[in-house]
Amino acid sequence: MIEYNYLFSIVCLVTATLAITLSFLSFWFSRFTPHARPLGFLLLFSGIYAFGYAFEIMKADPEWFFLWLRVEYFGLSFIAGSFLWLSIEFTGSFKTHKPVILVVLVGVSLFFLIVVLTNNFHHLYYSSIEVDYRGLFPTAALGRGIFYILNILWFIVSFLLSFILCLHHFFQTTAILRKRALAMVIAVIVCLVNYLIYILKVIPWSLDIGPLIISINGFILSIAITRLAFLNISPIAREQVFESMQDGVAVTDPQGRILDFNVAAHHIFPNLIQENIGHHLPTLVPELKPYLSTENISRYNPLSIQKDDAVLFYEARKISIKNKQNKKIGMALYIREFTEQYKLLQKLHEYAEKDWLTGIWNRRKWMNLAKTELKRAKRYGRPLTIAYLDIDHFKLVNDNLGHEGGDTVLIQLVKNISSQLRENDIFGRIGGEEFIILFPELDKEKAQMVTQRLLMTVCQEEIIACEQKVKVTISIGATFWDGDKKESLEELIQKADKALYMSKAAGRNRATFI
Ligand code: GH3
Ligand code: MG
Ligand code: MG
Repeated sequence: MIEYNYLFSIVCLVTATLAITLSFLSFWFSRFTPHARPLGFLLLFSGIYAFGYAFEIMKADPEWFFLWLRVEYFGLSFIAGSFLWLSIEFTGSFKTHKPVILVVLVGVSLFFLIVVLTNNFHHLYYSSIEVDYRGLFPTAALGRGIFYILNILWFIVSFLLSFILCLHHFFQTTAILRKRALAMVIAVIVCLVNYLIYILKVIPWSLDIGPLIISINGFILSIAITRLAFLNISPIAREQVFESMQDGVAVTDPQGRILDFNVAAHHIFPNLIQENIGHHLPTLVPELKPYLSTENISRYNPLSIQKDDAVLFYEARKISIKNKQNKKIGMALYIREFTEQYKLLQKLHEYAEKDWLTGIWNRRKWMNLAKTELKRAKRYGRPLTIAYLDIDHFKLVNDNLGHEGGDTVLIQLVKNISSQLRENDIFGRIGGEEFIILFPELDKEKAQMVTQRLLMTVCQEEIIACEQKVKVTISIGATFWDGDKKESLEELIQKADKALYMSKAAGRNRATFI
């Protein structure tokens, strides 16, 4: 005669061994697999449950049953809680209350475990434990006490809550992650149905197929979660290639929801953590919002992020991920820090445009800006004045203070003049101690007032150079653009230069208009 109990025992033992092995693998890989840790606990508890049941059915004796029932409950008490925890982690729910929820889940599970372990003293969990001989092999017929009923309620509430969370997540999540969400929904349904079958005693002879069902469910979940979480990249390849990259990489679906990212990306954007997978990248990292829609992050339009007390600059590339049918299924964002290079680039720009001594526009840049401004004035028929400035007897300043002292005077003089200008005025150094200013929107009358003010300011302000007080004057030659569309910038400058010559000839420290 076949010993059915041993046959069922062996099946349970094999399942238990597999579940426990898989649970350790899950813990091992939990560093780079989202949700592997709660899955590992679920598998471990399912394994303990199946393991206990394998021994429970070996002998037809109430004492023996109770001994192994207690072992089973080291797993079974925690299954509902760990399933709910897995669902919460998986769906990213209750983010801010997670620690409290975890304490409640562990607390309730522990409570039922203690009640079972101490049943001999109160019989409130099992009111009786007898042997049921009606089936293929003897099983435990358990009298249900008040806490047994409460435990049933706890299981049903946990699985129902898990079901609601997973179903909601299934409808919310992106197409790529939907298969994984479906696996979770099915797993919850299977657990719930299995449990209802057990408590409603649909399966005859007090036989419990729960350990098998729950463990098998765990295997299916492991495959679903690990296979789809990696986007089918093997863990080793992912670890070595993806994680060791110095560039930050974030992968999203076409709607911008995060599918994966590497450590470097996490360092740049600390919000990128496993729990946020499936969340909207622009919501998590608002700095990226403009760049993800239209703008490109480039060397000339970098992304700047405040880190501690420094600003770091990043360039980034967006790459479309396409499937075999050439349909866009996602986007990879490569982000690289280039703060040092960016600052160098900015310096280069500055050197190319600014006068090294005084910091105002150099001749080339001034010419470019002035050309643009003249074009604008011609197009809209707006007034414009150009003034040429030369320091009077600057040679003497150099002779008295030396070249360095002369430099200090130049710097301070530029500051004094700048303080009198509007933001739109274009101020440049054209040569040694010669300057040029373009005044947009300034008609002849106003221009005469401004140049008088400049002369006054310069001759009144004392400059300290080489510990000596110095006063200088300037001569100005200016020209008002009279609306002649053919007149070029060079011609206007020539006129101003001529006017300057006239100011000098007339005794300096004055302005002449042509
Ligand atoms: P004027 O009133 O006729 O303009 O007399 P000036 O002495 O200013 O004559 P001029 O324009 O011929 O001489 C300009 C002097 O400015 C000559 C040069 O030594 C000096 N200079 C030119 N560039 C610099 C500079 O960058 N730093 C210093 N310290 N001096 C400069
Ligand atoms: Mg000169
Ligand atoms: Mg001069």
